[in-house]
Amino acid sequence: MNKALRKAVIAGNWKMNNTPDTTKATIEAMKPLVADADCDVVLCVPYIDIPAALEATAGSNIKIGAENCHWAVSGAFTGEVSAEMLKAIGVPYVIIGHSERRQYFGETDETVNKRVRAALDAGLIVILCVGEVKEERLQGVTSEVVRKQTKVALGGVSEAELDNIILAYEPVWAIGTGLTATPEQAQEVCADIRALVGELYNKAAADKFVIQYGGSMNAANAAELLDKEDVDGGLIGGASLKAQDFSVIVKAASR
Ligand code: PEP
Repeated sequence: MNKALRKAVIAGNWKMNNTPDTTKATIEAMKPLVADADCDVVLCVPYIDIPAALEATAGSNIKIGAENCHWAVSGAFTGEVSAEMLKAIGVPYVIIGHSERRQYFGETDETVNKRVRAALDAGLIVILCVGEVKEERLQGVTSEVVRKQTKVALGGVSEAELDNIILAYEPVWAIGTGLTATPEQAQEVCADIRALVGELYNKAAADKFVIQYGGSMNAANAAELLDKEDVDGGLIGGASLKAQDFSVIVKAASR
């Protein structure tokens, strides 16, 4: 019922793939396939591809995002890019807290929270990723893990600012592995996160909070995942590199 209160968001995460040339070609192929989408469509791309992506998507319904941002506005942080810099070149979205950032680049719940704060202050829309690793699921502590990640990441975020946050529940064991959570597993955790938002804020805020599932979502399994009451879209890695596959997912989310 409350699903009708929320517009679905399908976001691609290209990770470390594509050059400006292949960015342009992929987006040109994608544009006509998603032009009539009845959901928000976002592509998060490597920093180096952002200018080409912005140019290729101008005037279309595809929005561009970055895959991370630093928490400082500027300063001695070699190799980093700030939220202010992304805003300055017209990037509206940014992924924060992706499991690959947590796993390979030492991101913690605390640095994720700092990045969320900076992105909101710069006026960006955040795609905030949380999710348990395989051992945590096997130990039965998924809820505790995901609730803690979400609670810490949302520290200092006001109810009004929740409108600029999309939460992506991404079980780490399902990312890039071909192992997808069952629709029931995805629904259970997305509903749990929504309940937490209700506890931290209130029911109205929880009812309109957009929660995606991510983890090996593809053209074949998207519809049944997106059909679940508390799954409001998807964060798509591998399948977002292929225009045709991505467009099938976008169509499944258009309702
Ligand atoms: C991701 O990168 O967020 C992701 C879900 O990847 P994949 O779809 O390839 O599992």
